[in-house]
Amino acid sequence: ATMREDRIEKTKTVCTYCGVGCSFEVWTKGRDILRVQPQKDAPVNGISTCVKGKFGWDFVNSEDRLTKPLIRKGDKFYEATWEEALNLMAEKFMDIKEREGADSLGFIASSKCSNEENYLFQKLARSVFQTNNIDNCSRYCQTPASAGLMRTVGIGGDSGTMEDIATAELIMVVGANPAESHPVLSTRIRRAHKLHGQKLLVSDLRKHDLAERADLFIHPNPGTDLVWLSAVTKYILDQGWEDERFLQDRVNQVEEYKQSLEKFTLDYAEEVSGLSKDTLIQVAEMIHESNGTCILWAMGVTQHIGGTDTSTAISNLLLVTGNFGKLGAGAFPLRGHNNVQGASDFGTMPNWLPGYQPVENDEIRSRYEKAWNTTIPKKPGLNNHQIVEAITDGQVKGMYLFGEEMGLVDSNINYVHEAFEKLEFFVVQDIFFSKTAQFADVVLPAAPSLEKEGTFTNTERRIQRFYKALEPLGDSKPDWEIFRDFANKLGANWQYDHPSEIMDEVAKLAPFFAGVNYDRLEGWNSQVWPVKANGEDAPLLYKEKFNFLDGKARLFPVDWTPPMAYDDEFDLHLNNGRLLEQFHEGNMTDRSEGIHHIAPGPWLEVSEQLAEERNLETGSLVRLLSPYGKVKIRVLVTDRVTGKELYLPMNTVDNEKAVNKLTSSYYDKDTHTPNYKEAKVKMEPLEQK
Ligand code: SF4
Repeated sequence: ATMREDRIEKTKTVCTYCGVGCSFEVWTKGRDILRVQPQKDAPVNGISTCVKGKFGWDFVNSEDRLTKPLIRKGDKFYEATWEEALNLMAEKFMDIKEREGADSLGFIASSKCSNEENYLFQKLARSVFQTNNIDNCSRYCQTPASAGLMRTVGIGGDSGTMEDIATAELIMVVGANPAESHPVLSTRIRRAHKLHGQKLLVSDLRKHDLAERADLFIHPNPGTDLVWLSAVTKYILDQGWEDERFLQDRVNQVEEYKQSLEKFTLDYAEEVSGLSKDTLIQVAEMIHESNGTCILWAMGVTQHIGGTDTSTAISNLLLVTGNFGKLGAGAFPLRGHNNVQGASDFGTMPNWLPGYQPVENDEIRSRYEKAWNTTIPKKPGLNNHQIVEAITDGQVKGMYLFGEEMGLVDSNINYVHEAFEKLEFFVVQDIFFSKTAQFADVVLPAAPSLEKEGTFTNTERRIQRFYKALEPLGDSKPDWEIFRDFANKLGANWQYDHPSEIMDEVAKLAPFFAGVNYDRLEGWNSQVWPVKANGEDAPLLYKEKFNFLDGKARLFPVDWTPPMAYDDEFDLHLNNGRLLEQFHEGNMTDRSEGIHHIAPGPWLEVSEQLAEERNLETGSLVRLLSPYGKVKIRVLVTDRVTGKELYLPMNTVDNEKAVNKLTSSYYDKDTHTPNYKEAKVKMEPLEQK
C-alpha cells in the first residue's frame, strides 16, 4: 500500500504480544496509529482483543526507539552508519572465529520476531559461522513442555486449536494464568464455562481470575504437580477408567508405565502435595466423567527442576484417558510470546534444524548443507544457559543477540551481567536500548512488526501473515534485512528481496512446512502446521497416528524431583508471573502511555496471614533477599496468595525491582530451563504499619 500522510491506511497485522495470535486491522494515518479494528474473519479472535492488542501499539513511535546503529567507544556509544557497524561486526566475529574456533560464538534469537527472521538467524549461525550454538527464549519458558510432548506423542506443540479448548467438556488449567497471560483465550474459556456448561478445574498457587470461576480450584504445595497428576492417573487405572481400546491400539510401553506408577498412591500424593485424598478422587472423577479433556499448562509447570517430567506426566494422563486425536481434547502448553512457537519451529535451537529435524542426523544435515552450500557441525550446540556458563568459563567470547531482553529475563541476572561483561564482542539488535544493550559493543536498530512483513506462529501452531503498516523509523531495518546484509558482508550472497522467498526456501527443506507459502496465507488465511505439499494443514494432530515411526504414542515413566526447599533463613517461597496490562519485562508495554498509567510498577503480593505476622500493610516497603541478590518493593496485601507464598509480577523495566535478581541458576534437569518458580527468599521490612 502507498503510505500517504493524508490518508487512512488499513493494514492487517498479527498481535505482537502473546501466543494467542489475535489478528486485526490497524488503521494508520502517516505515523499515527488511529485504531485497532478486529474483524470477524480473524481465525483466532474474531472480533475480540485484549487491552494490550487494542492499546499497546504506541511504542512504535516512542522517542526511545533506536534509529541509528551505535558503536561503543569506552563508556559511551556513538551513532554510526550501517556500513561501519556491519564491517566492524564482520571483522570482530571472524577474528574470534579464526582465533578461538566457531564454537566460541553464541547466537540468541528472538521469539518476538518473525519465522523468516529466526530462520535466517540460525542459517547465519550454522552456515556462515559453522556453529550450532543458537537458542531462543523458549529455553526460559516452554522447552520442558515441548520435550515432555516429544517423548510421549512426538510433536512439541499444542495438539489441537482453541476450537478444541472451547468445545471440550473439561478444561484443566495447571500452573497457568490465561486471564492475564492469554486474555482472549481466557475469554473463550469463560464463555464456554458459562454458556455450554464446560467444567473448569484450576490448579495453581495463586487464586487468579480463572481460579475464582473454577468448578474446582486446587492449591498443591509448590513443585508437586507431578505427584498429584501421577496419583490421579494411577487412581484412574486402578478404577479401570482408562481408555483400554486406545491404549491397546495406539500406545506403547503401557505395562512399564503402569509399574512406574506404583509409588504414586493417594496417601503418598496427599502427603507430598498437601491435597486431600478426596480432592484427588474428585479430580479423577471429573476427568472420568468428561467426554473430552484439554489440559492447558504454562510456566507454573515448566519452570521447575522437574519441569520436563511434569509436562510428561500431563501427557501420560491424557494418553491413559484417550484424550488425544479427537475434537475437544488434548495437550495445550500455552506459549507466552507471540512467536515463541515459531522461533523454535524455524530452527533457532541448538539441536534442531528447522521443522524439528535433528542436526545429528547425517541425511537431514546433508540436505541442508547442499541447499546452503556449506558444512554444518554434527554436534548439537550450546543452549542459552550453557552459553552463559561458557562465557563465564572463557569459552564463548562473542555473542549476537536480537530481540531478547536476556539481561532482565534470564534467571539470576547478576550472574548473567557478569558474563556479559566478560564478552570480547557483543552485538545487540533491538527496537529499544534495552538493559541488555548496555553491555553491548554494537547496538543495531531493528524495526517492529508494524514496519515489516513476515509470519508469526501462535500457540496453536497457526501460521499467519502480518503486513507493513509503517516505514521503518529512522535508519532502523527489519531484522531479516540486517541478517541478509550482514551475511553478505561475509560473502554469503543471500538474494532475498522479500520474506516470502525465505518461506519458500523453508518449505523445500522442512517437511512440516512443505505446503506453506505466502499466497496460501494471504489476508486472513492461516495454516496450522504440519502442512502437506498440497496445502492441507493439521489443526488437530494425532487423528490416526502419533509422530513416531510406528505411529504409536509412548507412555513415559517419570519420577518426582523435589523442588528446592526453603530453609530457616530463606523461609518464603517467591512465585512470579505476568500482569494483564503489561507484557513480559515491559519493554514495549511500559512505553505505551495508556498502559503505563493503568499498571505502574510491580507490587509484591503478600498473604493476609503473613502481613499480619510481619506487621505489614498495602504500601509497606520491604526488601527481599535471596542468596543471589535483593530488591526493594512495595507490598500489596491480598487473598490471592496464601501463607508463606509471595508473588512478584515480572513486568518491569526497573532493574531495581527485577524478580530475576532473586532467582537462581538451577534449572530443569532435562532442558536447562531455569527453575524460576522455585525461588526462596527472606523479607526485611523497611517501612511497617
Ligand atoms: Fe494480543 Fe494476546 Fe491480547 Fe490477543 S490475547 S490481543 S494476542 S496480547
